Amino acid sequence: MSSRSPTIAESEGAAASLPLRVLLITTELTPFARVGGLGDMISGLAAGLAKLGVDVRVLMPRYRWIRYAGMYRIPRPVVCEVGTTEYRTAVYEASLPSHPRVPVYFVDRLDLFDREFIYGPSSDLYEDNDLRFGLLSAAAFSLSRTLRWTPHVFHAHDWPTAPVAELLRYREQLAGFAESKSVLTIHNPAHSGPDGRRVAVTPLEQMSNVEAGTQLDGQATTNRSSLARGIATCDRIVFVSPSFAEEVMQPGRGFGLEELLRDRRDAVHGILNGVDYRRWNPSNDRYLPGSFDIDSLDERDAVRRALMREFGVPVERGRPVIGMIARLDEQKGFRELLDRSYGCLEPLLKQNRFAFVVLGSGHDEFEQRLRELANRYRNVGVAIRFDERLAHLIEGGSDFFLMPSRYEPCGLNQIYSLRYGSVPIVSDTGGLKDTITDLSADDGEGTGIVIRQNDPEQIKEAIERALALWQRGPRILNAVRQRGMKKRFSIEEMAKQYFGLYESVAQTEARPAALRSNRDLR
Ligand code: ADP
Repeated sequence: MSSRSPTIAESEGAAASLPLRVLLITTELTPFARVGGLGDMISGLAAGLAKLGVDVRVLMPRYRWIRYAGMYRIPRPVVCEVGTTEYRTAVYEASLPSHPRVPVYFVDRLDLFDREFIYGPSSDLYEDNDLRFGLLSAAAFSLSRTLRWTPHVFHAHDWPTAPVAELLRYREQLAGFAESKSVLTIHNPAHSGPDGRRVAVTPLEQMSNVEAGTQLDGQATTNRSSLARGIATCDRIVFVSPSFAEEVMQPGRGFGLEELLRDRRDAVHGILNGVDYRRWNPSNDRYLPGSFDIDSLDERDAVRRALMREFGVPVERGRPVIGMIARLDEQKGFRELLDRSYGCLEPLLKQNRFAFVVLGSGHDEFEQRLRELANRYRNVGVAIRFDERLAHLIEGGSDFFLMPSRYEPCGLNQIYSLRYGSVPIVSDTGGLKDTITDLSADDGEGTGIVIRQNDPEQIKEAIERALALWQRGPRILNAVRQRGMKKRFSIEEMAKQYFGLYESVAQTEARPAALRSNRDLR
């Protein structure tokens, strides 16, 4: 270890009330690197926290496409220990474009990050991802030491940076970070990462009995993963919606992690992701051919017509348009919709009572099946690609938005649909449950149609309810739309909740210190 880091008290000097210091460690940050919603969430969270007065900084890799222009090189090399090996790395600094007061640090190791993809070619992962992101995780501490800046909270995201928690607990707590805490947000527990042993600081058997015991009792392979080790060792675990946080602890619903999560129940939280209403606002959306809002819903019709023209389905006022935007994956309910023997979509399409437009890419099987339906039925339009503009057009022009997910950690599209007046038809799960209220449970508060159980029969039944609502005429439908358009699930609210969590965890005693340092274990 190069030098001791200042303690939080030393870093603060006499003034104990300096701002909360938080380091976000991530593999994605919009606009530098983005695969899915993670990059947007981190940039939103960083900007939201900065507005609340938090001294928030972000650490990520410098991937091949991130240019040095406008960056400043930290003069001292940063030395990181991964497993038992020391690695040196350069670190560059820039700032977050949406909030220039937020510093962003880039770990610059060409052998690890100068590659074409973030995680690997689409279906494959790079074989050395454990080392790549293990080094990123270790850099969180080495960099803080170099900067003489001691975070109150190291906030990691998903399996790649989950090792931050274990590093803090089993190594860094004993090396100057005694008062720092770790928070791990899990955006999708279906991905738990590679076996974490190569970069681990502690063999499982050296961990405390609870940690090693819970991991070894469960499914051995899954539970050696980077994510499992992070869950076992971090101070707080956050899922991206309160309902999903409950669901993953139920038998068979936690991707092999449920036992471990139940053991750590007291540390588990659910904080709903917020969306950026500056990018998703129908009254000011550069992707739409017109604008509308809560008081001008009639203007929506022009967007609807443009949508139907774009997808080549006949423009008809008498039948609703149901839209979908999603990764073409079983998670999103495509098996229940498209399966040749029991899928519910084709029998409905045959009846020609609505138009159906879908945007997405993913599994070949689903892509082919959708193309086949588009060829067979005039009322079906399909775009197999990733297309930001079309996504906005579907939200703004469809009458209903279908999201029959098997599970949904948070989900963003149903939130955009609310804002754009496309009535969501959603499964009763995770973040969908936390954002949409069923019309039949109504006391005048319903905003959408909730699929009672995720099977083809029930999805069909929910679509039938949507068609029945359409039949009741525009006045009633618009009242439902307007209720949805008033709802807000904002980044500011999300940032406030994380702020509260950081404050409370920063004030707790450290969990019992790790038994021994890794130096003693060698
Ligand atoms: P997940 O992260 O599980 O894929 P979410 O609903 O949380 O699902 O977020 C998906 C995000 O990606 C949304 O913002 C959605 O609009 C966008 N998206 C997904 N597929 C496409 C696509 N083919 N074209 C444009 N945007 C897409």
